[in-house]
Parts: sequence; structure tokens; C-alpha cells
Amino acid sequence: MADSIVVLGGGVIGLSCAFEAARRGMKVTLIEPGTTGGQASGAAAGMLAPYSENTEQPDAFFQFCLRSLRLYPDWIRDIEELSGMSAEWVRSGSLNVFMHEADVLPVETRMRWQNEWSARAELVGAAELRKLEPKLTASAVAGLYTPSESHVYAPKLVEALEAACRKLGVSVVEQAGALLDASVNPGGGATVRFSRLDGPVHAERLVVCAGAWSGEYGRWFGLSVPIHPIRGQICSFGHAAGEVRHMVFSSQAYWVGKRNDRLVCGASEDVAGFETSVTERGIGRLVRSSGRMFPHLAGKETLHRWAGLRPATRDGLPLLGEIAGTPSVIMAAGHYRNGILLSPATAFIVADLLEGKRVEPALAAFAPDRFTPAAKIGLGH
Ligand SMILES: Cc1cc2nc3c(=O)[nH]c(=O)nc-3n(C[C@H](O)[C@H](O)[C@H](O)COP(=O)(O)OP(=O)(O)OC[C@H]3O[C@@H](n4cnc5c(N)ncnc54)[C@H](O)[C@@H]3O)c2cc1C
Repeated sequence: MADSIVVLGGGVIGLSCAFEAARRGMKVTLIEPGTTGGQASGAAAGMLAPYSENTEQPDAFFQFCLRSLRLYPDWIRDIEELSGMSAEWVRSGSLNVFMHEADVLPVETRMRWQNEWSARAELVGAAELRKLEPKLTASAVAGLYTPSESHVYAPKLVEALEAACRKLGVSVVEQAGALLDASVNPGGGATVRFSRLDGPVHAERLVVCAGAWSGEYGRWFGLSVPIHPIRGQICSFGHAAGEVRHMVFSSQAYWVGKRNDRLVCGASEDVAGFETSVTERGIGRLVRSSGRMFPHLAGKETLHRWAGLRPATRDGLPLLGEIAGTPSVIMAAGHYRNGILLSPATAFIVADLLEGKRVEPALAAFAPDRFTPAAKIGLGH
């Protein structure tokens, strides 16, 4: 088992990996260039929604999402117990809402396969839909109710994870500045340098969890890391507790009622480099969709507007595992739209690898060197 681990990146993925490695007895340092939770993880809607996010087929990605959902009850309990903080986990269930009869037929196919994977989903008609969600527009003709989906308050989860990490003795280094360089040492281990840290940091194993910025490590480790930022713009409205009871999805947006009297509505998807500002166009679309879906929101002003950068990969799958030929480096990045959901399963896999366990065949699709030409793999020394 490696006993000096440096986790690079303080989003939900880095903090989760640090937490799991530390509670298995490893000595962990986490390095964050800015503030923990200051990027995508603090911006997320916090939905744990493997069924609503995977509507086509039970592929390897869906199964990974489901595996992570199943870890959540114990995961949240342990984080909350250790940190003494709440992640505001709400087992609301979800409603995918349809406006046209023609949309309902394909949903029956989806419901059939998802119920074989424990969704317990049911199709509800217009009358039942309005009983479940009284503020919904009268134009909705049907809904798919999935009771097993839920949500957390992502900024609180990140805060609790960080507190739990510190309780376990993880050294959390924030404001480290820009990455200057990273290298794999010929005798084993690896080294990184950051602009605001005194001197190099050595580790037996590095875990790269730098979200949308993970591509920076490619050049140092001889890897092709095609991760790019997809901006998500998102907003919230003030709302009374219980006004919107479920996570509601339409073809245009989603709505999540948080415990802090906020109804979160997300999210746009656009390419704007590393820009995290919001635009009138991005938020305007969400505001208009909100008024159509929930008439009580028509004309209502947003309370907050913000944006985050989802770490997207070329094939939509995360990069998770050791780099062949460079075992001192593990990648855990590219979780795109589902990093909050996928954090416990990712952390368990990373901790297993740090303990020297073999990669499960089921995870081959996520191999971090899958975009690197075979002749180059292992040359990042
Ligand atoms: C609007 C929006 C809504 C979302 N909603 C959901 C949702 O409902 N459910 C869900 O599961 N997911 C959701 N997501 C996706 C989720 O937020 C991401 O998949 C997840 O946060 C990724 O976590 P991360 O730790 O990899 O990235 P981040 O949280 O971005 O963390 C990466 C960290 O790495 C740091 N970093 C940068 N450069 C370096 C470097 N060179 N070295 C080390 N560290 C570096 C950054 O400062 C940052 O803190 C949403 C995303 C957005 C934007």
C-alpha cells in the first residue's frame, strides 16, 4: 500500500479520493490551486440521478452511476458523522415531464429496461402528475416518476467532505497557485511544483483530480488527455418549502427544490473556454422555461445566477485508473455532468488502486490512456 499520496485538485472528486484513502490509513496531502469546491463541484445542482441522466441503455457508464448511487447512503452517513455537518440529502424522487403524447412511447421502452435495474419507475398520467406536483403546468400530459433518485446540496457536501478529510488528518493545501511542472521519478514516485508553494512536492503516488483542468497534466506524463470545459449556467428562485417536491426534468431544463428555500434551475451547456461568467442568453432560456413549466414562476426574478465548468471528455466517459507504464500516477477526471453522483464510486476505485488491487475489467472503458497512441504510453518519465 502506498503511504504518501498527493491528490491534485480540491473538487468533489479530489476530496472524495482523499477522504477514502485517508480512512483506509494512508497519509494524504491534497493540493488545490485556488479554493476547495471553488469550481464545478460548488456550482452543481447536486442531483443523484442515474436514470434521468442515462436514458438510452444500461452501458458501462450507467452501471458505474448506479453503483455510485448505491454507495451513497453509507457514504453520506460517514461524511456527516465525521464532519458533524449535513450535506442536505433529500430523497425527493424525480419526475420526467412530457408535454406531448408522442414523447410517451419511447419512455415506456426506457422504463422497462430501467426497472430491470431497480428504478421502480412508473408512468403517471396528467391527473396523477398534478397530485404529485401541484404547481406544474396544466399542459403536461404525462410523467415518469422515479422514486429512487435524490439530491444533495453540492456546496455543503464539499464543505462536509473537506471537514471530514481534515479530521482524518489529510493535509489540505489551498491557494497553491499554478502548476509549474510534474514529473515521474525514474526510481518510483512523482514530483509536482506549484507557483505559490515553496519547493517541489514529492509523492509515492499522485492522483490527478483536476476536473476541467486535468488536460494540463497530459504533457508532463506523455498522455493525450482530451478533457475540455463545458460551461453550465444555472440559477435559483426563492420558493416556499415543498412548493416543488420532486426533481423535475423537462426537455429544456431541470428544477430542484433545496432545503434553503431555493429552487435551483439548470443548466445550459455551452463552450466558452475557462470562462465562468453567466450570460443573459444562457439564463434567459432557463427563466423562460421555468415560467412555462411552473406558472407561479412566470415573471419572477432569479435570486442567484452562477456557472461552472463540467469536465467533458471526447467520448463522454471519465478517465479513471492508473496510466499503463506509469503506475505512480492515477487519473480520476472527466466526470462531466455526473461528478457529484460518481464521487463515492470513483473514490473507492482510486483507494483500491492505491492499495494495490487490480483494475476491474468492467472499468476498461474508462482507461485514462485510451486516447494515447500505444507507442507513447509509459514514455512520460
Ligand atoms: C451547472 C452544473 C450543474 C451540475 N449538476 C450536477 C448534478 O446535478 N449532479 C452531478 O452529479 N454532477 C453535476 N455537475 C457536474 C459536476 O459538478 C462535476 O462533474 C464535478 O463537480 C467534477 O468534479 P471535479 O472534482 O472533477 O472538478 P472540479 O470541482 O472542477 O474540481 C477540480 C479542481 O481542480 C483544481 N485545479 C485546476 N487546475 C489544477 C491543477 N493544475 N492541479 C491541481 N488542481 C487543479 C480546480 O481549481 C478545481 O478546484 C454539474 C456541473 C455544473 C457546471
